[in-house]
Amino acid sequence: MIIDTHVHIGTSLNFNMTEADVLYSMKEYNIDKVIISNSEAASHDHDRALLPEEYQVGAAECLKRCIRFARENPERIYVAAWVKPSVEKVSAELETLIAENLDIVKAIKFHPYHSGISFSSPECQEYIRLAEKYSLVVLTHTGDCEDDSPRRVYEMAREFPKVNFVMVHLGLGTDNKEAIELCSKCKNIWGDTTWVSTASALEFIEKCGDDRLLFGSDNPIDGKDTYRENGYGERSLYQEYFGEFRNMVTEETYEKIMHKNAEKLFGI
Ligand SMILES: [Zn+2]
Repeated sequence: MIIDTHVHIGTSLNFNMTEADVLYSMKEYNIDKVIISNSEAASHDHDRALLPEEYQVGAAECLKRCIRFARENPERIYVAAWVKPSVEKVSAELETLIAENLDIVKAIKFHPYHSGISFSSPECQEYIRLAEKYSLVVLTHTGDCEDDSPRRVYEMAREFPKVNFVMVHLGLGTDNKEAIELCSKCKNIWGDTTWVSTASALEFIEKCGDDRLLFGSDNPIDGKDTYRENGYGERSLYQEYFGEFRNMVTEETYEKIMHKNAEKLFGI
């Protein structure tokens, strides 16, 4: 059994991630369940410049597409609502959509880089409070700039001790060490494996135990065979998670990381 906690749909920026590719890859690579978010909610481009009005898609609109996809694929597709804290306040429409679909909406997804805002900003905190109200997990991209640094997640996890946070990428573009250190100090932060080397995953397990690491991938960001090869046609990191990693940890630990921890955290 494999649960991928970090999967996308959406045509935005230079990405084109389709429902068909998600379904194809789940079948082809034996992925049993996924949590998807819609990248069309990105409000800022790769240089963090605000996208023009005609490219802005509302968070509620983005969520509706995810909900439709999840409803068409019961017990296989679950949803993280990607929000746009720098350009939209929590709307009644978004909250109602979440409240009425709690059986499939399991998280709120932040991308401080593509939202042009700090994860610890008051605007983001408004959405963290929404997550708290509905017992949703907070998933957030982490990288190497101030706004999306692992430290911001640590601060919010301290501020909101009842909310469970996932520090996606464990600081993309870093050696993951600071992220792992922060996770070890805070029990309500989980890590994921999206673009995280198996060496860093082992270090996470050593410092934080094996209950708070989740399998995630960003599939299908490099196309329908993201699980097989990266954008340069090289063997995908995820082949290592499906293969060699199995022998780097105990069977019990492997099962936890590939699905059991996600089942527990998201209730899926
Ligand atoms: Zn992602």
